Amino acid sequence: MQEFKSHSGFLDSIKLKDGRLIREKKAVHAVNDVSFTIRKGETFGLVGESGCGKSTTAKSIIRLLDCVSGQIIYKDQDISRLKNRQLEPYRKSVQMIFQDPQSSLDPRQQVKDIIMEPMLFHKIAASRKEAEERCLALLERVGLRPEQANRYPHQFSGGQRQRIGIARALAVEPEFIIADEPVSALDVSIQAQILNLMMDLKDEFGFSYLFIAHDLSVVKYICDRLAVMYLGAIMEMGDKNTLFNNPVHPYTRLLFSAVPTVGEEPLVEPMESVGEIPSPINLPSGCFFHERCPYATKECQCSRPQLREIESGHFVACHLCK
Ligand code: SF4
Repeated sequence: MQEFKSHSGFLDSIKLKDGRLIREKKAVHAVNDVSFTIRKGETFGLVGESGCGKSTTAKSIIRLLDCVSGQIIYKDQDISRLKNRQLEPYRKSVQMIFQDPQSSLDPRQQVKDIIMEPMLFHKIAASRKEAEERCLALLERVGLRPEQANRYPHQFSGGQRQRIGIARALAVEPEFIIADEPVSALDVSIQAQILNLMMDLKDEFGFSYLFIAHDLSVVKYICDRLAVMYLGAIMEMGDKNTLFNNPVHPYTRLLFSAVPTVGEEPLVEPMESVGEIPSPINLPSGCFFHERCPYATKECQCSRPQLREIESGHFVACHLCK
């Protein structure tokens, strides 16, 4: 079970002062008051436009980034303040599949070493021989041939490299996997194969997924529940069928209205928003979405709506939903 709250960092901001451009560091709240729980065995989706804080959330959960405040609860333990060796059991239980398999695999390592290294580090295998046997079995399970174990990452296609990334994640027998846009860098024909593989593996090994994507058709296919993020905050969260059949938040409706459909009813009526996504350095007052929302009122400009449960398991942060 995971609960996650917030992450901040710094960005360079350039402004004009006395006729000169000056650069200054400004705090950016990449993720604000984000809180959600992932149940054992479920696939929880995080969706939203690029830059909305999905990947920052994922990297903070796996502790590649440190949280400024908030908690990350895993099996009743707050792991957000653990350091170095204290984190080892967590790092074994929680693994990540990255968006770009090319840059997440060491080009100087043979595939068998990429997969065996975490096994030996976390003592999943007692010897190098056992690790090699496990590695070859894993390669077969993800759809590669054992004789490909001696090759290097550049000798594989994009889809095959993602299979290697999945095998590396499985090597330490994780209970929870964070998949950060795992298919968005792949050809459409390969995407379905990788998604089917990920779902089969989930059924076989029983782990949970945090699945990050901006492709809503992928999310609809793979997720049980999902949260919609905008400017580092959750706008709407709930069961997949509830959100796809009855999206309530204006931003969710805007996102869904942009999904192209061929020969099918659109998910929601076409909707237009005004303006651009504001900079996370200068977050808007009130509702973060008010500058683009066609239903914004005066209240929206000064008061930030809290995420409220409007029906069982369906949460919305909007003043219109009371
Ligand atoms: Fe739009 Fe106001 Fe709802 Fe924000 S709170 S989504 S601005 S109606």
